[in-house]
Amino acid sequence: MIIGAGFAGLHMLHCLRGHGMSAQVFEAGGGVGGTWYWNRYPGARCDIESMQYSYAFSNDLQQEWTWTERYAAQPEILRYANHVADRLDLRRNISLNTRVTGAAFDEATGRWTVETEHGDRVSATFLIMAVGCLSAERVPDYRGLSGFKGGWYHTGAWPAEGVDFAGRRVAVVGTGSSGIQAIPIIAEQASHLFVFQRTANFSVPAHNGPLDPDYERAWKANYDERRAQARAMRNGILNPVNDRSALEATDAEREYVYKARWATGGLGFIVSFNDLVLNQAANDTAADFVRARIRDKVRDPKVAETLLPRDHPIGTKRICVDSGYYETFNRPNVTLVDLRASPIQEITPTGIRTHHAEYAVDSIVFATGFDAMTGPLTRLPIRGCGGRLLADKWADGPRTYLGLMTEGFANLFMVTGPGSPSVLSNMMVSIEQHVEWIGECLAFLRTHGLERIEPTREAEDSWAAHVDEVAQQTLFPRAASWYMGANIPGKPRVFMPYAGGVNVYRQICDESAAAGYRGFAMAAGTSVSVTAKDATR
Ligand code: FAD
Repeated sequence: MIIGAGFAGLHMLHCLRGHGMSAQVFEAGGGVGGTWYWNRYPGARCDIESMQYSYAFSNDLQQEWTWTERYAAQPEILRYANHVADRLDLRRNISLNTRVTGAAFDEATGRWTVETEHGDRVSATFLIMAVGCLSAERVPDYRGLSGFKGGWYHTGAWPAEGVDFAGRRVAVVGTGSSGIQAIPIIAEQASHLFVFQRTANFSVPAHNGPLDPDYERAWKANYDERRAQARAMRNGILNPVNDRSALEATDAEREYVYKARWATGGLGFIVSFNDLVLNQAANDTAADFVRARIRDKVRDPKVAETLLPRDHPIGTKRICVDSGYYETFNRPNVTLVDLRASPIQEITPTGIRTHHAEYAVDSIVFATGFDAMTGPLTRLPIRGCGGRLLADKWADGPRTYLGLMTEGFANLFMVTGPGSPSVLSNMMVSIEQHVEWIGECLAFLRTHGLERIEPTREAEDSWAAHVDEVAQQTLFPRAASWYMGANIPGKPRVFMPYAGGVNVYRQICDESAAAGYRGFAMAAGTSVSVTAKDATR
């Protein structure tokens, strides 16, 4: 059983079929595509170039699909997901509109049973959570929201029929990646837009445009080679990396490099030098450059000052990629509200009241993000061996081995789970790596007459220590980010993704597999005799 029909679930189903196994996917949404099914807000767009944000596992797929823009917009990515589902004949094993409401492992039979929102109970030997890292949207718990007379929306659960903001006074709460994409478009539609900002974020221009046919041809002529190069990068994105410290360069050299990267646009800015997320002084040089660009773009110096990110090193919160975000604040119909100076007190029937003022609005857009990485897993009652709840096991932060499995929850796999590079990478690269690893693992079990697998406690402990050790060598833990669980009240502050790089990480996973799944305990049937070797990492 696979839960989720985003890019992870679709590929997982295809992969298992390829191994001659049968599988069924359960998906809460009314269609496939996951993130790209739910996030239909205006301006929703990928911030990884189209040529790189797609499946690599099928040469036919990558050759026949044509992207129209350098960065694909949500409708095009959703069309691609649907194309894949049709092309690979996946739909016959996908149950749409079927939210899984709980899952439990039966030690006697060695099987998982899931319950769906329709009251069905379905069981299988293996359960694969392809539930996404950013799929449990978070609406802040503001007093008065239920009494609001206008319409309110979360970017991560946008109405399929769209929302018409023409002639309306609109509030956007939140200025992370989704807010930064939506704000310029909503500003063009609304009579007035109020942007409620708690944290100013760093954003780099996308310089999006139609995909250059020569660029596309060059990619398609060398696709396999380029995909391999992308997999060898730390973040799974093929970008020219400057393997030099920002601190070794002179002021003039640094300015030259940053200007060139800024002119190219996109996430490549953060690899302008090799130590931007490792060294505060190096990071400051990039952050200062971006702050100067914001001052250049925003005419009102007071507004520009409020938009300057100052409370975290650049890149330690998900860096945004925008199309005209800062320029939007030069429009006469846009007002920036600084929630640091004056927090939201309540939602009134007709608007938003902060500490100092009340803003009358017709619509509220919450671009307030997600209970990232763990939310879709811990919001579900998932009971493992001995009836233990996953949410209880992870009460002090998620613990996994390689982000793939967690001890005490036999036969439960996660695609891009906490403890894997996931959200720090091109997710398509990470998804493919996990899906293929899980497929190979299940094939190995079948070949060896094994039906039960889970990581050893030692392997999990040493992996948790390694994930933390690597994170502490970076600047990431200095930001109150969703990587750290900081956006969810009460969530433990633990850096959840693995910052060691997708290239290094793949090698570690492959080494475990090559050593007969080192770090995992495996058994035949329902017997519990451990057959695996100990983990060394
Ligand atoms: P998802 O696409 O999230 O799919 C998970 C599916 O599981 C969902 O459809 C959900 O409905 C379903 N599900 C969850 N729980 C249950 C349940 N209990 N029962 C049934 N179904 C369930 N990544 C990048 O690499 N580059 C980008 O530029 C990028 N941009 C993004 C922009 C936005 C706005 C968001 C939200 C994410 C973005 N991401 C990006 C991350 C994106 O989530 C991944 O790239 C990728 O789409 C994840 O695929 P997935 O299949 O793992 O998860």
